[in-house]
Amino acid sequence: MEFNITLIPGDGIGPEIVREAVKVLHAVEEKYGHKFNYTEIDMGGCSIDKYGVPLTDEALETAKASDAVLLGAVGGNVGNSPWYQLPPDKRPEAALLRIRKELGLFANLRPALLYEELSAASPLRADIAEKGFDMLIMRELTGGLYFGKRYIEEIDGKLTAVDTLTYNEDEIRRIAIKAFEAAGKRRGHLTSVDKANVLDSSRLWRKVVHEVAESYPDVSLDDMLVDSCAMQITVNPDFFDVVLTENMFGDILSDEAAAVTGSLGMLPSASLGEGKLGLYEPSHGSAPDIAGQDIANPIATILSAAMMLRYSFDLDEEAKAVENAVKKVLREGFRTGDIMSEGMEKVSCSRMGDLINERI
Ligand code: NAD
Repeated sequence: MEFNITLIPGDGIGPEIVREAVKVLHAVEEKYGHKFNYTEIDMGGCSIDKYGVPLTDEALETAKASDAVLLGAVGGNVGNSPWYQLPPDKRPEAALLRIRKELGLFANLRPALLYEELSAASPLRADIAEKGFDMLIMRELTGGLYFGKRYIEEIDGKLTAVDTLTYNEDEIRRIAIKAFEAAGKRRGHLTSVDKANVLDSSRLWRKVVHEVAESYPDVSLDDMLVDSCAMQITVNPDFFDVVLTENMFGDILSDEAAAVTGSLGMLPSASLGEGKLGLYEPSHGSAPDIAGQDIANPIATILSAAMMLRYSFDLDEEAKAVENAVKKVLREGFRTGDIMSEGMEKVSCSRMGDLINERI
């Protein structure tokens, strides 16, 4: 099959890690007989330096016209880069908000997987970490408290702040469908997280999710209150397969799930919209402190490319091949500096890419 991919190397370690992901995608092309066509665009600080804006309209059109977008990271050293003297809407990260909005991305997928080989990096107690876990947090990205009406007014001489949490049934239904589909591609278990004992928005959430469930009889659904979920992620993380939740709960839970893996350089992410077009990027930033040294961990970006194969191209077997190659390299004892431990072999960013490439 043939697909068009927009590549956004971006800033900092972005170009180094995207290069390694492309290397691995080449191995997938060769092994499975696919053809991936790449168009590279500038975004973030590098675009500001060239064009004065973090994302040009032309670059955006290129991304919109492709089958998927693979992004490294954008941004520089917030303390001393001239990019941060610009107004907020002209800074590197403004491009992230713009591209997500223009591509209509409403579902954010962040897997949190604890590899057996890296269980020592987890802050969880050893008997919990040793069991491992593999969950996917699906967070609604464009509604809820972060997008509702907000204001501060004076009532009876007291400053009073108001934030509103709004969801309509269509917004809930479209992400619930994505979550059931993702669960169908995994272990068939979906946990929908809400606060239905208190919030009306959660009661509607629960009702709509259960309606959608009727079309997915092969996926088992359970509901969990958000406070209980936050606890279960630390004491019983292997319970979870796909976790579906609204914007703010997802913001918090996805960071918590990432933290319990203990390895920022290992965590991919995907943002999906109505069709198949998605944006795939590592969960970490541009790491300007280690840029240009060939020491960054490219695995989060390589695993983001695997998510692209699975969710935008429906190439499940190929995605698995990439994930298995990553597991194999870890099992054989190769580590980049950020996940290095005693007795392992420390490798560079490009060598890690080569090793994974060779194991596809
Ligand atoms: P960061 O994730 O870039 O780095 C945090 C720490 O983790 C650093 O010590 C870094 O060296 C290390 N690290 C991150 N990724 C690594 C990797 N792949 N391999 C090895 N070590 C890695 O977060 P930060 O320092 O807070 O932000 C740096 C810049 O990135 C800022 O400009 C920020 O706005 C931007 N940022 C961009 C995105 C994005 O593009 N989606 C996301 C988050 C932050």
